[in-house]
Amino acid sequence: MLTVSNECVVCWKCIDSCPEKAIRENEKKLTAKYIIPVVEIDNDACSECGICKEICPVDAIQETDSTVAAWGEAIV
Ligand code: SF4
Ligand code: SF4
Repeated sequence: MLTVSNECVVCWKCIDSCPEKAIRENEKKLTAKYIIPVVEIDNDACSECGICKEICPVDAIQETDSTVAAWGEAIV
């Protein structure tokens, strides 16, 4: 499972490079007035080609263990 860390500077390199169109820009509301752009990965659409991890200039795309998310706390 790939996630985008807070290091992301929203340069769009990964969005433009993803062959599956699995990465998109979205908005995150911090306060009633303050909204920031964020980059999100649709892991269901991702083919795990690795291009985004290679191309990111700030190493913001990371592989995380999705086991707990998939199975819940029953296994921990
Ligand atoms: S690993 Fe490949 S398919 Fe998955 S989000 Fe990155 S560029 Fe797109
Ligand atoms: S390439 Fe890296 S810094 Fe640029 S938008 Fe993607 S995750 Fe953010």
